[in-house]
Amino acid sequence: CGIVGFLGTCPALEIIVQALKGLEYRGYDSSGVALIEHGRLLRHRAVGTLDQLMKVLPETTKSTLGIGHTRWATHGAPEERNAHPQVSHGIAVVHNGIIENFSELKAQLLKQGYAFESETDTEVVAHFIHQHYSKSKNVEEVFSKVLKELEGSFALAIILEDHPNHIFIARKGISPLAIGRSAKGISLCSDTLSLVGIADELSYIEDGVWGDLSLEGIKIFDENQISQSIEFVPHPLGK
Ligand code: GLU
Repeated sequence: CGIVGFLGTCPALEIIVQALKGLEYRGYDSSGVALIEHGRLLRHRAVGTLDQLMKVLPETTKSTLGIGHTRWATHGAPEERNAHPQVSHGIAVVHNGIIENFSELKAQLLKQGYAFESETDTEVVAHFIHQHYSKSKNVEEVFSKVLKELEGSFALAIILEDHPNHIFIARKGISPLAIGRSAKGISLCSDTLSLVGIADELSYIEDGVWGDLSLEGIKIFDENQISQSIEFVPHPLGK
């Protein structure tokens, strides 16, 4: 199970599927992708193997930005409604790990009128981000809150219709995450093996940081908005 993402100058879907195939050996019960095309979020999910997902994916898409997931269910049965990406009002989230305080957060979000479609801890993250984003429209504040208020272990990739050229990431605890770079664009994955042939260079994301990835640059911050340095090394299995 794990998360992937790509943004660049070429169609993203093929690269996302390639990276998802690289994650298969870790085991999974369902999978999904979300893309932004013409400013709109598109989501496709399926229970079972990636072959099932391939059946519902569009044959071609011009989208150059998206995220993907292979799920190993921890909260909620392996059903399509529990597969990732989980969405909330134009925001899509893929998550590897567990949000330990999801039931407290869910109770607060339910009180505020959020409707839940799944039984996952991840849908809580999507609504949590929407709740804070809709108040401030300030991603810095939102991702600081994600790191401060979500407990447990997570590697997250998030896309927002409001920011169609960006992928946001956040990492806490034991869930691994790396960013890749190549002439084609910026990639991310839970497992660097899956980025062979996709990324020439890798950067391992530290515990307790969030990031804003776009073709304008890669920015990494801690939970207090202190900018973090980022170093890339050649992919050990790259050309
Ligand atoms: N806890 C999440 C879920 O059950 C993510 C599981 C995973 O890491 O695949 O949906």
